[in-house]
Amino acid sequence: METNENVTTAQNPPHQPSPEAPVGTPFADFNLPEPLLRGLHESGYERCTLIQEQAIPLGLQGLDVAGEAQTGTGKTAAFLVPIFAHLLRDKSRTPGEPNVLIISPTRELALQIMQDAQAIGRHLGLKMLAVFGGVDYRKQAQALKEGVDLVAATPGRLIDYTKQGIFNPRHIKYLVVDEADRLFDMGFIADLRWILRRLPPYDKRQSMLFSATLGYRVLELTYEFMNLPRRVSVMPQTRTVSQVTQELYHCSSFEKLNLLLGLLKHEDWSRVMIFTNTKRAVDRLAFKLQAHGYPAEGTSGDINQVKRLKLMERFKSGELKILVATNVAARGLHIEDVSHVINYDVPSDPEDYVHRVGRTARAGAVGKAITLCCDEYATHLPYVEEFLGDKIPVVFAEDELFLPDDTPEYRRPPRQAQIEGQFRWTLFSGFAQDLQRLLIRFNRPVIPFHSALQNTPIEGCLPKMGVQFQSAFIRDERLFGLVHRR
Ligand code: AMP
Repeated sequence: METNENVTTAQNPPHQPSPEAPVGTPFADFNLPEPLLRGLHESGYERCTLIQEQAIPLGLQGLDVAGEAQTGTGKTAAFLVPIFAHLLRDKSRTPGEPNVLIISPTRELALQIMQDAQAIGRHLGLKMLAVFGGVDYRKQAQALKEGVDLVAATPGRLIDYTKQGIFNPRHIKYLVVDEADRLFDMGFIADLRWILRRLPPYDKRQSMLFSATLGYRVLELTYEFMNLPRRVSVMPQTRTVSQVTQELYHCSSFEKLNLLLGLLKHEDWSRVMIFTNTKRAVDRLAFKLQAHGYPAEGTSGDINQVKRLKLMERFKSGELKILVATNVAARGLHIEDVSHVINYDVPSDPEDYVHRVGRTARAGAVGKAITLCCDEYATHLPYVEEFLGDKIPVVFAEDELFLPDDTPEYRRPPRQAQIEGQFRWTLFSGFAQDLQRLLIRFNRPVIPFHSALQNTPIEGCLPKMGVQFQSAFIRDERLFGLVHRR
């Protein structure tokens, strides 16, 4: 298959509005069904953003679309509006049949899509469901069984329900793959292909794909699973948001915390996101900031999903003022009014710098991005600056900016998965492939157990097995139980 080379690209020259500004064609000009138009209006959508301007007419014609656009550009409505219009006009469809599938890499993004869909689609009488791992296993399964029209899912949980016959992919008429590049980055590509192979053939459905960049690997996916997709693109002329003031401090890794403490004291901040490169640094920094009396919490891929969601909610609502995070939290989130983004570590992937910095100065607000460049990660800086096409302005840190830290050193709690001794342990997982991976990773006697109880949630497995629950941990959105084997 070929892609249509007739690429529509808006390079957003300086005299034009930013890709985020909704100043394009009014939605009222698209001949949309009235209830959809009303939902758009009541949700504050009057005119298109650039990506909507390009993608909606193609989508309304029933064409496949591959869009290059980041979060914040309005890409969600760019795919939701045509899909909703088609659903409303499709007289042959059976309500309660999952005709729409939106796949995204993270639960946060799936929830965000769901929120936008429920807002825009408030008058459409459609049942919509977010499906993701970590929580509400039975509730989501029950909702699927009762019938839904639209599913916004992360891959892992969706595969689980598909294997159990709770979700039937053959009903899908509209497919959206959101943040495709992130799906690759997070190692979901095998899972994504697994799902895509079970959908109706590409010419029997409409497919849309969005990605921050349409690089080689993503394009390959579009060749494979889409029907001559039209490419649309909104690339900001500068890679960072123009309203962001960027600053870079050089320091040693040894005194980085002291500099951060000074910056937090001197900067006029209201809400701060601090990004680190490792989960361990998240834990340590959150611990240290709390010890200094700051309202800070850490979030990373390792954290219990329920807790992670609650943290994001508290941060969004303004109750929590400082969030320390790895890159997982950097993409795909709409958190308004983050006054400061602090790159505690220079990221290894230049795109992560842009995503991190993109957390501030959203919706036309002014923000500040401060990067601490230490000996450990200084080698990443040239790549970031090359990607930006510019140097980040350097600020010299006066001695007074380094505040002392006399709080206790952070001690890492023992990892649950490292518990061992004279016992033999069984690791439970709903996924055979996870067990295989774990067997290799743990490099010690582990008993794979995935026959009769496969795909049964851990709470259900354990009483049936008569085993004593020791601990459970969540990794990659899946629950693993560590139990003492009888
Ligand atoms: P997205 O890039 O799709 O995640 O959208 C970012 C935010 O912009 C969402 O919270 C939307 O509610 C909002 N938004 C998107 N398109 C429009 C529009 N045309 N008019 C007003 N708000 C919009």
